[in-house]
Amino acid sequence: MTFRELNIIEPILKSVAIAGYKEPTPIQTDAIPVLLEKKDILGSAQTGTGKTAAFAIPILQNLYLEQPHSDHRQIKALILTPTRELASQIYENFTLYGKFVNQRSTVIYGGVSQKKQEEALKKGVDILIATPGRLLDLVYQGHIKLNAVSYLVLDEADRMLDMGFIKDVNKIIDLVPKARQTMLFSATMPKEIETLSKTILNEPVRVSI
Ligand code: AMP
Repeated sequence: MTFRELNIIEPILKSVAIAGYKEPTPIQTDAIPVLLEKKDILGSAQTGTGKTAAFAIPILQNLYLEQPHSDHRQIKALILTPTRELASQIYENFTLYGKFVNQRSTVIYGGVSQKKQEEALKKGVDILIATPGRLLDLVYQGHIKLNAVSYLVLDEADRMLDMGFIKDVNKIIDLVPKARQTMLFSATMPKEIETLSKTILNEPVRVSI
């Protein structure tokens, strides 16, 4: 299987080649076609499997195909993840794969000053990668609007649960539109994640590796 056979568009094929990826990993082969069709997904996958590209590439492709040349930037894709390190890695991945598709991303997390994050948001972004607590702070202060979100990713959902973020995650879910594609990834599937998945996913395709 190749990325081309997964119907990835030219400008993304180009950045995947620059990244040095020869072929898709198993989770990419399974998840990318499902996500390009805008179906919800419940993925059990650990970090290190290529999971980030499995959701980042289809999000970038779908956003680009919807609005190839727009510069009216509003948050259309929201990725929630438990830690600053994961948030930064995901942001780097979006930047890498999205080089040629005119989509702007930024990343916000707690434990550092808000100022630079506010400035980046003010310029307008299409894709926001965030830890839940800082996201809610910025929403409540009026720096972030979530009413245009149509792609929502919950990454490492079991870790968000362990770290006590589930209340915040539920608050965020209440703030994003119901008409959206939702992607939930978790290394393990405890009961709480199964329950969460039933309330937030719409007829999800299960992918596990
Ligand atoms: P992740 O599971 O998303 O944390 O990715 C783990 C590592 O695999 C990252 O360093 C990615 O850059 C890399 N990676 C992702 N997809 C591929 C691929 N198809 N071929 C080679 N490396 C990849």
